[in-house]
Amino acid sequence: MNTAAHVKADTTPADTTLLERAAAVCRAAEEELEQTEREAVFPLRALEEMRRTGLLGLMVPKEDGGLGGTLTDLVDVTMLMGRTDMSIAMIFTMHCQQAQALVRYARSPLREEVLPRLAAGELYLASVTTEAGKGGHLFRSEAPLREVDSTLEIDRTAPIVTGGTVADGFLITMRSPYATADHHVSLVYAHTHQLKREASGQWSPLGMRATHSLPMRITGTIPGHQVVGEHGAFHEIAQTVFGPLAHVGWSAAWLGTASGALSRVLRLLREPANRKRFDMGSELLLTRLSRARQRLDTVHALLRRTEDLLTREEELAATNSQLMLNSLKITASEQCHAAVEDLIDAVGLRHGYLRDSPTGLEKALRDLRSAKLNYSNDRLHLADGQLCLLDPDVRLY
Ligand SMILES: Cc1cc2nc3c(=O)[nH]c(=O)nc-3n(C[C@H](O)[C@H](O)[C@H](O)COP(=O)(O)OP(=O)(O)OC[C@H]3O[C@@H](n4cnc5c(N)ncnc54)[C@H](O)[C@@H]3O)c2cc1C
Repeated sequence: MNTAAHVKADTTPADTTLLERAAAVCRAAEEELEQTEREAVFPLRALEEMRRTGLLGLMVPKEDGGLGGTLTDLVDVTMLMGRTDMSIAMIFTMHCQQAQALVRYARSPLREEVLPRLAAGELYLASVTTEAGKGGHLFRSEAPLREVDSTLEIDRTAPIVTGGTVADGFLITMRSPYATADHHVSLVYAHTHQLKREASGQWSPLGMRATHSLPMRITGTIPGHQVVGEHGAFHEIAQTVFGPLAHVGWSAAWLGTASGALSRVLRLLREPANRKRFDMGSELLLTRLSRARQRLDTVHALLRRTEDLLTREEELAATNSQLMLNSLKITASEQCHAAVEDLIDAVGLRHGYLRDSPTGLEKALRDLRSAKLNYSNDRLHLADGQLCLLDPDVRLY
C-alpha cells in the first residue's frame, strides 16, 4: 500500500521540539508493537506519525520547507526511537540517510521535484544498495543501468529492501551506463509510480521484524535527470553521505535500543515490590549493571566524537577519520548487543529470557543481533586492516 495518499495535514505546532515529535512517533509505534512484532509487518501508524510530525523532512533545509535538522538532531531523534523499537529507529535513520543524499546531490529539476515533497512528509524513501552476489559491498554493482534516448531503464533484483512495499520513492545503485570498471556505480531516484515492484518470499526474521525487508525485483523507466550526482560517481556519495550517516545513524539506533533496555531493567529493580525479589547487594548484579552502563557510555562517547568529525568534512577522507568511523560501527554493534547480554545475566530467566517481561530484553537481544550483520563487521575489519598499514605512526583521531 502506498501511504502517501493518506498524508494528514501537519497539525504539529511549529514550536514542537524534535524530541516531542519523536515521542509522538514512539507512542504510535508502541500501540502497534505487539502486532508488528507478532506478524512481522511494517509499522504503518509510526510512519504516519513521521509524516504528520514533519520528521520525514528532518534533513531537508528550512528554505526548502523542511525542519533543517543537524546530524546531532538525527542522532538524538534516532536514539529516542530506538528506546521504543529498533525497527522504527532504523526505518527512520535509513530514510534520513537517503534524504540527505538527495539534499546534497540531487540537481535541478529533480531537486525541485523531490525536496518540497520530502519536506511535506509525502516521500518515505527506501534504499536499494545490497545486491545478490556482492552482498553489502557498496562500491560495486552488477546490475546494468541502460540509457535509452533520454531515459534510464531499471531492472534490479534486491535481496533485502526495508519498507519496500510501502515506500513512496527509491534510491537505487546500479552499474553506470558508461561504466568501464565495476566501481563505476550510479545512484538513481525513482518514484514508486514509475516502478513495477515484485516482492517475493516472506519476511520472517529473528529480529528487526517491523522493518518488513522483503526481497524484490524492481523494473521501470525514469527520465535521465533522475540520476543523483554524476553517473558512475556514487563512490563520492557513499564516502560523504551513505557511509558516514549509516554508521552514525545505525549506531544511534542500537545505542537507543540498549539504553532503553538498561532503563527498563533499572526501573524494574527499583520498584518497591521487587526490592525483596532481587538481591540489591549482590556483587554479581552490581557488576553486570556497571558493565552494561560502561559499554553504553563508551559507545556514546565514540558516537558523539564521530558526529563531531562529520562536521569537518575536509578531514573525513583521512585514514584516521575513516578508521574511527568504522570503529564506531563495529564497536556499537558489538557493545550494545553485549550490554543486553549482561542485563539478561543480571536479571535471569523470568525477566531476561521471557517474551512477556516488561524489560523487553528478549526482543532487544534479537534486534541487536542484526547489528553485526548489517554491513558485515568482517568487511569493515578487512578495510580497517588495510587502513592500519597506511598509518604506521598510529595517529589517533
Ligand atoms: C534489518 C536489515 C535491514 C536491511 N535493509 C536494507 C535495505 O533496505 N536495503 C539494502 O540495500 N540493504 C539492506 N540491508 C542489508 C545490509 O545493509 C547488508 O548489506 C547486508 O546485511 C549484508 O548481507 P550479507 O550478510 O548477506 O552479505 P555480505 O556482506 O556479503 O556478507 C556475507 C558473509 O560473507 C562474509 N564476506 C563476504 N565477502 C566478504 C568480504 N569481501 N570481506 C569480508 N567478509 C566477507 C561476511 O563475513 C559475511 O559473514 C538490511 C539488513 C538488515 C539486517
